[in-house]
Amino acid sequence: MSNPETLNFGNSAIAFKHQSTRSLKKALLLFKSFDFPFLLKIGPFLARTAVALGMKSIIKNTIFAQFCGGETIEESATAISHLSESHIGTILDYSVEGEETETVFEHTCAEILKTIEVASKDIRVPFSVFKTTGIIRIALLEKVSANANLTDAENAEWQRSRQRFEQICKSAYDHQVKLFIDAEESWIQPAIDALTEEMMARFNGKSAIVYNTLQMYRHDRLAYLKKQVESGNYFHGFKLVRGAYMEKERERAMEMNYPSPIQPDKVSCDRDYDLALAFCVEHIEKVSICAGTHNEESSLYLTRLMAQKGIAPSDPRIYFSQLLGMSDHISFNLSDTGYNVAKYVPYGPVTAVIPYLTRRARENSSVAGQMGRERRLIETEIKRRKSGISVD
Ligand SMILES: Cc1cc2nc3c(=O)[nH]c(=O)nc-3n(C[C@H](O)[C@H](O)[C@H](O)COP(=O)(O)OP(=O)(O)OC[C@H]3O[C@@H](n4cnc5c(N)ncnc54)[C@H](O)[C@@H]3O)c2cc1C
Repeated sequence: MSNPETLNFGNSAIAFKHQSTRSLKKALLLFKSFDFPFLLKIGPFLARTAVALGMKSIIKNTIFAQFCGGETIEESATAISHLSESHIGTILDYSVEGEETETVFEHTCAEILKTIEVASKDIRVPFSVFKTTGIIRIALLEKVSANANLTDAENAEWQRSRQRFEQICKSAYDHQVKLFIDAEESWIQPAIDALTEEMMARFNGKSAIVYNTLQMYRHDRLAYLKKQVESGNYFHGFKLVRGAYMEKERERAMEMNYPSPIQPDKVSCDRDYDLALAFCVEHIEKVSICAGTHNEESSLYLTRLMAQKGIAPSDPRIYFSQLLGMSDHISFNLSDTGYNVAKYVPYGPVTAVIPYLTRRARENSSVAGQMGRERRLIETEIKRRKSGISVD
């Protein structure tokens, strides 16, 4: 069994062995450009303008190349191969956002079904994933979450929406492909949770196929996790994340005058994240997990919990996951030590993934904290290659 004590996220040689020095320099330059608040602000506009003027290749060769696999599944083949050379799986994430017509929902649903089919035939793709708002209208999810009365038209729309959700989960079950359902804003999450719990009860009888996502920046999620595991008589799958919509959640709670669902501070969020990891590992006979995090301490903590419980790093019930183009020092060092790792590989038409790219640019704009560490590691690796020094 691999020893978590030998795991070293600072090993830049392993972290970036899949990247040429040229591509590391390109990544560094890109990350540095995120330090200019003005560029960040006008970035989405510039990107759309560049595409409208026929200069899509500028976006495609820079920020898109860093964070996305391609515009289609076929174009993502190179990313899939690169990752698999280091025994890292790919989670194909169709990242189209913002469109809310029935035609787009049907198209997105068909695309998600395609990713499930690909995963069923390719061991390099161990999971599929989708966002409920990609197939169901946000305002409808909000009404259902609030138990509001639906009009006849809305009722019919809800039935069609449920069918899409069900079709995706059933296809995952039929193909025996593990499926993550992403977590979203708290005011639409009750409807997503209810649908997901129903699918888990239906399809997780023999193993965890359908995984819900828990955002541990919410103060109620640890209790929810415990209740789910203690009550549901089936296998559970959870992707554990900290949560991506903190500012939006706090602003809405303030504006609408209700108590914020978010933890009072980062320490509380970190505490609940690690408690959730410990609870899941303690109940590993019933619970499969994916730690979706770029946090080094939580990743290390999970490796220690596994060692304490005598769980092999390659146990299929435990995965680590990061996003493409981010925290390679965590992904590649974990997989090099024998842990299961899969990266989200977003794909979709360039204009449609601009909101996703904007979020990544903002996340990487601070040189402080985790992202700063990654940037410094890229610099270390470029210097190391220049001088030919080996890194422990
Ligand atoms: C594979 C993968 C899948 C993901 N899927 C989802 C998903 O389905 N839904 C989703 O919402 N997000 C998802 N995320 C994003 C995730 O929720 C986080 O936004 C992101 O990963 C940063 O958190 P971290 O654990 O990596 O690390 P860190 O950098 O340690 O934590 C940053 C996070 O801590 C929390 N935080 C920061 N300050 C405070 C504070 N003052 N009080 C309380 N909390 C605070 C916030 O959630 C913030 O994003 C996913 C991330 C990954 C890697």
